[in-house]
Amino acid sequence: MSGKGGKGAAEDPGSEPTLGMDPFEDTLRRLREAFNTGRTRPADFRAAQLEGLSRFLQDNKQLLQDALVQDLHKSPFESDVSELITSQNEVDLALKNLQDWMKDEPASKSLLTRLDSAFVRKEPFGLVLIIAPWNYPVNLTLVPLVGALAAGNCVVLKPSEISKSTEKVLAEMLPQYLDQSCFAVVLGGPQETGRLLEHKFDYIFFTGSPRVGKIIMAAAAKHLTPVTLELGGKNPCYVDDDCDPQTVANRVALFRYFNAGQTCVAPDYILCSPETQERLLPALQSSITRFYGDDPRSSPNLGRIINQKQFQRLQGLLGCGRVAIGGQSDESDLYIAPTVLVDVQETEPVMQEEIFGPILPIVNVRSLDEAIDFIKRREKPLALYAFSNSSQVVNQMLDQTSSGSFVGNEGFVYLTLPSLPLGGVGNSGMGRYHGKFSFDTFSHHRACLLSYPGLEKLKEIRYPPFTYWKQQLISWALGSQNCTLL
Ligand code: NAD
Repeated sequence: MSGKGGKGAAEDPGSEPTLGMDPFEDTLRRLREAFNTGRTRPADFRAAQLEGLSRFLQDNKQLLQDALVQDLHKSPFESDVSELITSQNEVDLALKNLQDWMKDEPASKSLLTRLDSAFVRKEPFGLVLIIAPWNYPVNLTLVPLVGALAAGNCVVLKPSEISKSTEKVLAEMLPQYLDQSCFAVVLGGPQETGRLLEHKFDYIFFTGSPRVGKIIMAAAAKHLTPVTLELGGKNPCYVDDDCDPQTVANRVALFRYFNAGQTCVAPDYILCSPETQERLLPALQSSITRFYGDDPRSSPNLGRIINQKQFQRLQGLLGCGRVAIGGQSDESDLYIAPTVLVDVQETEPVMQEEIFGPILPIVNVRSLDEAIDFIKRREKPLALYAFSNSSQVVNQMLDQTSSGSFVGNEGFVYLTLPSLPLGGVGNSGMGRYHGKFSFDTFSHHRACLLSYPGLEKLKEIRYPPFTYWKQQLISWALGSQNCTLL
């Protein structure tokens, strides 16, 4: 943080919060006072923060890559494409479009308001809290931060305590690049975050599990604080009989095993017929060998599980169904081989919880209709994938289901497009961000109408008593929407 926030704040990493004392009060008061001075509002100030963030990414590239190796065994290439370049692109986009995004948006008017000026102003919420998970600990912390800074807010950033090395870099280095009176990093796990959430924020942006999402929303409700919840869940991947198995296998394997499967939008399980399963299995084996070699453990391109708790949870899931590919694991190295499970029952744990690891169960369905029914009987997923040579099949899946995002014949490459929002629906979350969606998420859209102090004669028709002709005139004027803009 800027560092002056007391225990729980970033200048004191690792310290235990003192019971009874509020470790966040001073920091939050300071940030709120800074916001109230209005200093974060001008475009120049926002641009300076974004430029600082850009310099942070450039100056600390090596430190961040090293931290990502320590936390997740991420290869420099994987770190680049999924964390650093993505964050940098978001900063660059915001800098390029800031003036435009900040402009008032003119609103259409009725005859009654014809002479007035009507517009939507995007103004900062105030003091916003961003809480991040550990699986993409740079991207999922900094990309929301871009939106929050661009929108002119003061920001409290709470990185995940689980991705310890990245948390350390963010806490020690990032504040040096931002205005410390308006920005703070705070540290801690569930207990500290619980205390943090007792305070009133003007917006909370949370990325994490649906379980914790409910805790965040309940805490926010006490202050009527609006929230974005970027959550997880099980993402179905339907594979039609009419497909090229090797192409499908390549694309599914790449996106299932990327970051050792610890990706919120990764395909979580395959739905296909028993015949397609028979064709897919050798193709998946071939993709895995091609990507990670005969011994995936020695591949520099395969990540590791974040910690022992997650490793043990995943090892438990390996006992579901029957291992068709992979299945090896080594706790001392937090390694789990890219795995495919077959003969899996819907009632088994691997089909009951989000997998979040390099395990891919295949569940058999007899038809597209049965797959759609299977998906609709469950919570709305964050992402839904459909593979088929038939565009009709892909479109039917798109039309008859709901999910945060939908992808036909690809993996989660849509995340590289800031023109598409990232966000869930139902159990997978609420709200959206990336690109301009981030700016809009972190801005209050204020309805503004500026009228004239004069023109009283013209406005007199609105005053009681409402004679017949006044009623007619007002009804007519109210009905004439979408007049020209001033
Ligand atoms: P998590 O919900 O356990 O933790 C997320 C954050 O919440 C962390 O910063 C953590 O310190 C904090 N937290 C944990 N318990 C808390 C509590 N009781 N009270 C207050 N704060 C608490 O999630 P995770 O394990 O870090 O990440 C994995 C989950 O995140 C998966 O479900 C995954 O799908 C989801 N996720 C979603 C997206 C998305 O964009 N929708 C992206 C990445 C991860």
